[in-house]
Amino acid sequence: MNNLLKQVIDENKKYTNYGQVASYIPELKNAKRSDLGICIIDNNNKIYTAGNYNTKFTIQSISKPIVLAMALMDNDWTSVFSKVGMEPSGDPFNSIMKLETNDTKKPSNPMINAGAIVTTSLIKGNSLEEKEERMLQFFRRLANNDSIGINYEVYKSEKLTGDRNRAMAYLLKNDGFINGDVEEILDLYFKQCSIEIDCVDLARIGINLAMYGVDIESKERLISEKVSRMIKTFMVTCGMYDASGEFAIRVGIPAKSGVGGGVMASVPEKMGIGVYGPALDKKGNSIAGIKVLEDLSEKLELNIF
Ligand code: GLU
Repeated sequence: MNNLLKQVIDENKKYTNYGQVASYIPELKNAKRSDLGICIIDNNNKIYTAGNYNTKFTIQSISKPIVLAMALMDNDWTSVFSKVGMEPSGDPFNSIMKLETNDTKKPSNPMINAGAIVTTSLIKGNSLEEKEERMLQFFRRLANNDSIGINYEVYKSEKLTGDRNRAMAYLLKNDGFINGDVEEILDLYFKQCSIEIDCVDLARIGINLAMYGVDIESKERLISEKVSRMIKTFMVTCGMYDASGEFAIRVGIPAKSGVGGGVMASVPEKMGIGVYGPALDKKGNSIAGIKVLEDLSEKLELNIF
């Protein structure tokens, strides 16, 4: 398998020349566009790697399904889905438009920024510090990596320039979809996006979701079966921004991407995959990363449909 991964990385390296590294969060510009890495963890807990699999990057939107899991574990589901919907939006991840034009004004789903700000606001804790600590602990347990932390340079950069998210959050508060201190909720949202991980961490979270929430190593249940099913379904329908339909057809694996260049994929009962390639297409997906997943899906027959 390591040879196959090396071959797939080598063959797709050329695609790192296409697209752009994200720059709207200034700190993300520092990523090296030629990086391309992968890690697979299978259902026997075997780890396979190739390329720049241990380069660190920020999780960005890949945090959204995980924070959704927390929101669903912390709250009753009716109240969660009274504040955020279940439909793909077909709009860019940072679009504000449907917060005005949707009948209910409710964010379409928890994988776009507006919906993710809602799920972040639902994390329980007596203080911002407690919420942050609970969130970090949850990521650490899911990735089985206690050293996971926040990249404060990226966090500061995003906090300083995140006015679009700020605008959305104030609108959401005005319309009753979030309660409490907007700046605190945004602070937590910016921190969750700035969590630093590598492909191995993503593959580990991916396999734990693939095994319906039971940790592949300790066999401890971290997420209920129902929640992990729901998360993978959101990944299929909304995980790859407004390119989720095409990705489902070409690759056919539940996956979530982030503007840091990562993609986490979860093949039910088989494997978790973490891919990193920071040069993105216009929709925010890693160009080379998607090519790698497309090739692997075909070579290993991973398409779930
Ligand atoms: N932190 C990013 C933002 O809020 C996340 C976007 C993404 O990865 O899709 O814009």
